[in-house]
Amino acid sequence: MYLKKLKLINFRNYQQLDLIFHPKINVFIGDNAQGKTNILEAIYLTSTGKSFRTNRDRELIKMDKDKAYILVEGEKRYTSVSVELKLEENKKKQIKVNGITLTKNTDLLNNIHVVVFSPEDLKLVKEGPVERRRFMDMEISNIRPRYCHCLGQYNHVLMQRNNLLKKIHHDRKYIATLDVWDEKLVELGTILILERLKFIHRLNTLSRLLHRKITDSKENLEIKYIASVKDIAEEERISQSFHRELKKMLEVDICRGTTTIGPHRDDLVFYVNGIDIRVFGSQGQQRTSALSLKLAEIELVKAETGEYPVLLLDDVMSELDMKRQMFLIKSLRDIQTFITTTDMSLLDSIRLGEENIFYIEKAS
Ligand code: ATP
Ligand code: MG
Repeated sequence: MYLKKLKLINFRNYQQLDLIFHPKINVFIGDNAQGKTNILEAIYLTSTGKSFRTNRDRELIKMDKDKAYILVEGEKRYTSVSVELKLEENKKKQIKVNGITLTKNTDLLNNIHVVVFSPEDLKLVKEGPVERRRFMDMEISNIRPRYCHCLGQYNHVLMQRNNLLKKIHHDRKYIATLDVWDEKLVELGTILILERLKFIHRLNTLSRLLHRKITDSKENLEIKYIASVKDIAEEERISQSFHRELKKMLEVDICRGTTTIGPHRDDLVFYVNGIDIRVFGSQGQQRTSALSLKLAEIELVKAETGEYPVLLLDDVMSELDMKRQMFLIKSLRDIQTFITTTDMSLLDSIRLGEENIFYIEKAS
């Protein structure tokens, strides 16, 4: 798919912005703090309803204003799609798809598919588990809206359970109501674990191939899901095992006032030629693995939806060496790509015309 048009009103530093995009490469060039990433953020919002930088809608609205508006129009293989977002201070955001207001914001997913690649992603292997869980949750939600819905419910149940654990710590009589929350936690958590396992399995196959290509077959990448629920080898046994471990950890959980078992504690480990590269890998190996992962994600969206997603590359070129830059550029052939950069020379290897370039300078 590709995006044709973007309109912003009072979004971040833009009072009004109207852009017509190129179906393939779009480069936003400008000095720091001019509003390049803000444009990518607006595009991302029309895909997921969320920002990749903040959870607070207020930050998205221009500082001296109380409302913001984003419109994106795109072409899919068989249909056109338009997405509008209205952000208003202290109100729930209003989203329209093809002119129709959504009742549930998660219904937005599956209209515009976007993959973002930023310098933070290059650190994915090395960062803490929170980032890797966020990566899984974002990417699975992108292709499976049901997952996003289930994750929301799971987090709600988890919060309720944790509150209850704190109450039990002070007064044991509350323990009688714990079973109800445990049931729900296990039911929803099992769905999340299963979806993540499926996702990682497919991502593994794709990223392994890409990684071999980038490293001239020298490196073999393997991604492993590390679950806090021990017995996840057999699908039918996950919920039993989840229940058992919750029970086993109950006194610890009561003491800490938090739940120690469940997908909210799980992680990913990356191995190259059998070695855990989080601990033993070079920075280059960690970055190359992250690149393979992102490119695999693009292929996964294509396999799931039948169309390539739109790719947002926020400042990544400067973070990659020449060989990896070239590999990335070659991989973009059929994909509409939005690139932000402060340095045009980083894009010397891409043939660009004026129609591909947007000069971004903040209004003074
Ligand atoms: P860099 O090259 O450093 O990544 P950038 O061009 O990507 O810069 P952005 O992050 O897109 O920059 O935009 C930052 C600019 O937007 C800053 O000048 C900031 O003050 C401004 N800005 C951010 N949020 C708002 C807002 N809500 N209202 C007004 N201006 C804002
Ligand atoms: Mg930026």
